[in-house]
Amino acid sequence: MNFAENLARVRERMAAACARSGRAENSARLMAVTKTQPAERIREALELGLRLLGENRVQEAETKRPALAGYAAEWHLIGPLQANKAARALALFQAVQSLDRSELARRLDRLAGERHLRPAVLLEINLGREAQKSGILPEAAAGLAAAVLACPNLELRGLMAIPPAADRPEAQRPYFAALRELAGRLRHELALEAAPAWELSMGMSQDYEIAIEEGATLVRLGAALFGARPPQRL
Ligand SMILES: *Cc1c(COP(=O)(O)O)cnc(C)c1O
Repeated sequence: MNFAENLARVRERMAAACARSGRAENSARLMAVTKTQPAERIREALELGLRLLGENRVQEAETKRPALAGYAAEWHLIGPLQANKAARALALFQAVQSLDRSELARRLDRLAGERHLRPAVLLEINLGREAQKSGILPEAAAGLAAAVLACPNLELRGLMAIPPAADRPEAQRPYFAALRELAGRLRHELALEAAPAWELSMGMSQDYEIAIEEGATLVRLGAALFGARPPQRL
């Protein structure tokens, strides 16, 4: 399978999932997750029209990006961000999907202000309450959202989640539904119902169709587009 064929199949399945759940055909955006992929493969994705790309490490993104200058693409950080890499992240990414603590929000806000930037942020929610995972617990999300709303240089754009690993994609459905419901509750509590709709970033290669059925507006796909990755270094 080559990338173009994978992409065509993914788009077909996304459209079918939208149709099954009564959604407009293009209401879920496709993010290509390019971690571990060399710049040449990423260029192929850009040449085929993908414009939304995700990386999960600042350092890795930094090494590949010079080779990809000149493409009008939107890059999101989807992996955990250490405070000491916040400035470098702002130079690379238009959005941080992995915001999970208010100190980091305030730091990004200050650095963004100094640079005349206004990055988008998504709150990463630890839906499975997994101790080893990043993300904030659902009950603490309202406090973090309020902290972000108090940051003039950050745009609160939605929620992101990586549910616990499961062997059946269907097992993720309740987690995806929980993220959608949490977003609704937060928007109500924070009186944001009139604000632009929030992004729900959920669904990966194994389960994106179910995520779309449950309301995902952005699915993050690596393996389904590029093929299986070699095991990751930690
Ligand atoms: C790697 C990664 C993905 C993509 O995973 P695939 O299973 O390859 O689709 C999505 N989101 C995050 C946060 C990731 O780190």
